[in-house]
Amino acid sequence: MNIPETGVPRIVVIGGGFAGISFIKKLRNEKVQIVLFDRHNYHTFQPLLYQVSTAGLEPDSIAYPLRKIFRKNRDFHFRMAEVENINTENNTIFSSIGSLRYDYLVIATGTRTNFFGNESIAENSMPMKTVPQALNIRSLILQNIEKADITADERERKSLLNFVIAGAGPTGVELAGALAEFRKGILENDYPELDEDEMNVHLIEGQNRVLPPMSETVSKKAQKFLEKLGVQIHLETYISGYDGKTVTTKDGKNFETATFIWAAGVTGALLKGIDGEALVERANRYKVDEFNAVKGFQNIYALGDIALMETQEYPKGHPQVAQPAIQQGKRLGKNFRKMLKGDKMEPFTYFDKGTMATVGRNKAVVDIGRMHFGGAIVWFLWMFVHLWFLVGFRNRVVTFFNWTYSYINYDRAARLIIRPFKKN
Ligand SMILES: Cc1cc2nc3c(=O)[nH]c(=O)nc-3n(C[C@H](O)[C@H](O)[C@H](O)COP(=O)(O)OP(=O)(O)OC[C@H]3O[C@@H](n4cnc5c(N)ncnc54)[C@H](O)[C@@H]3O)c2cc1C
Repeated sequence: MNIPETGVPRIVVIGGGFAGISFIKKLRNEKVQIVLFDRHNYHTFQPLLYQVSTAGLEPDSIAYPLRKIFRKNRDFHFRMAEVENINTENNTIFSSIGSLRYDYLVIATGTRTNFFGNESIAENSMPMKTVPQALNIRSLILQNIEKADITADERERKSLLNFVIAGAGPTGVELAGALAEFRKGILENDYPELDEDEMNVHLIEGQNRVLPPMSETVSKKAQKFLEKLGVQIHLETYISGYDGKTVTTKDGKNFETATFIWAAGVTGALLKGIDGEALVERANRYKVDEFNAVKGFQNIYALGDIALMETQEYPKGHPQVAQPAIQQGKRLGKNFRKMLKGDKMEPFTYFDKGTMATVGRNKAVVDIGRMHFGGAIVWFLWMFVHLWFLVGFRNRVVTFFNWTYSYINYDRAARLIIRPFKKN
């Protein structure tokens, strides 16, 4: 793997997501060697993936080279590889490019899409967890609209213009809102031969309200916003399958669609080699103590979405969103500094800064403690927060420019089919 032995403790980090990068940043000047593995050579800002899928942003606005983030870290090494296995007895990881010994291991692998064992959905739906997947969705949406424009068969045209999204969590809501705006701003102007009313956006949710993890107040507000945009919401509806043409539900509904986006769930991205008391099977997460150490191990830590820390306030673990991952990464980084000096580590405490979701132009909702708001001010706040947390100055500037341009012109500039989507 071409990693030198430098005589200092080697920390192997798996995953350059929010947790992994927050952790490594805190160790910039420490006498440790850090080896970061990720299957991509960039960090992905997942909260804005839906903007790539719906042609609002180019993919390079929400991704950032991992090597560049840590340019100033000394004794830092990045390897683009898939880590497959861990041997905890020999302190070794095994990856697609070979094996490596570690002194400390930090697992920050996040989650992967959960199809709940449904093969037809796994095979035929469009998941949205990575930049390539978001680009696939973008291409498919645009390809289907182009096809619809030249299709005389009414049934086929309707299927091409029928967009079905599974899951009304923040991702599903954001996608549905963006697609509904696409119909208003783009279809109307750029596809004069198409009837705007033939394009439908369906949002399907198993629970009895949209945004189930958020408060009922903002859930109602978000539903109103979506309905105003013309999104058709189907609550308490469970999807049973998708054969590539029709989404079927357990209560007997059928949705003919050429675009079915799966935003209905994630599950922990586990690695082979850690099980027993360390593994919480129902959630596919690693059980950690208040210092993020994996149960039963002294030199293995887990951070972010993959870690399950049971606390009084969060008996089922922290929510799988960006803030716990960032805060745990920072805390563990600071704790490593303490440990290297021989000081005691501090336990992790989560500071809940609130939860936001956007539905569309001037429409966003937020829960902050006992306060629940929605509207244009929250939408501007949502934009500010996302710009703030985007990695890289260039990405912030480009995204800000794109959003301002879209706001003024009602446009989605990245409507390009650069690499047509082909189903395998
Ligand atoms: C579409 C979408 C929208 C979201 N929107 C929001 C939002 O609006 N607000 C919010 O707070 N949160 C949101 N989230 C959740 C948020 O992105 C996650 O909670 C956060 O990314 C968790 O950070 P993490 O570091 O634990 O994992 P991640 O950020 O997922 O990083 C994991 C990294 O590990 C790498 N990896 C995984 N397995 C391996 C392996 N075996 N070998 C090598 N590399 C590996 C992956 O490539 C990835 O880079 C969203 C998530 C998604 C998918």
